[in-house]
Amino acid sequence: MVSTPNVSEKAKIGLILGVLLITLVVVFWALIPQFKAVLSGENGFLIRFYAVGQGDAILIQEGNSQILIDGGPNDDILSYLGRDLLPWDREIELIVATHPQADHITGLIGVLERYKVGKVLYYQSAYDTKTYERFLEAVKNEGAQVLSASAGGQIQVGELLLQIMWPTANFKAKNVNDESIVAVLDYKNFEVLLLGDAEQRVQKQLFINVDIEVIKMAHHGSWNGTYEPLLRAIAPDLAIISVGANNQYGHPHNQTLGLLAKMGLPLLRTDLDGTIVVKSDGYDFWYSIE
Ligand SMILES: [Zn+2]
Repeated sequence: MVSTPNVSEKAKIGLILGVLLITLVVVFWALIPQFKAVLSGENGFLIRFYAVGQGDAILIQEGNSQILIDGGPNDDILSYLGRDLLPWDREIELIVATHPQADHITGLIGVLERYKVGKVLYYQSAYDTKTYERFLEAVKNEGAQVLSASAGGQIQVGELLLQIMWPTANFKAKNVNDESIVAVLDYKNFEVLLLGDAEQRVQKQLFINVDIEVIKMAHHGSWNGTYEPLLRAIAPDLAIISVGANNQYGHPHNQTLGLLAKMGLPLLRTDLDGTIVVKSDGYDFWYSIE
């Protein structure tokens, strides 16, 4: 009789402990993919071409270093980064804004506001929009080191090397797409060609003398964004098109799709496949979708 209150106390404590345990299990469960990756060393190197709709947002991770190339047309990138970066990693070593159009830089504004950003690489295009103004303001407020892109330059981030292929110094184009930063990402013996939105006029002038495994097709697969001789010369093993479903521009163009099919080049598209993940040990590579 006297012990009844004690039993109920014990039950209460038991209940609280139980709830705490369940909470811990749930939290651990949610973080399992990240822990597993860290423990197994699997997070060596990977690239995610995010499904952000009509635009580009590409996260490259190697160990604890990240390079973010473009941020897409909205804030979706923030949820993706929240999911894919370790909870205690709030620093992105390098952000690249390929060119100032909204489908590439809008998402970068929120990233600059919320993350510590080491360096920002862009090309100083004359482009007068509210979004570009807000982007430049966010870069200034973040106090990140600003790097100006120029062909021939290269940036090392951990074991990653970003080689800048375009634009050449002081290049000006009527079409701002052609002022896109074109870069080769190099991880050991694995290379990705990132074309931004640089169209045929630019691609005719590119000289790519490294073996390319993966190509991020230019300008969301538009026809004027695909230059067949370049594609044939570099002969990649995988093509990726970052594009929004049912976009108003008709991207990707049928002729681009036809060319890839004719070449027998495997293609992944963010509108149909979702986020595309490419992993490599620096020699072979694997891809999956999520
Ligand atoms: Zn674009």
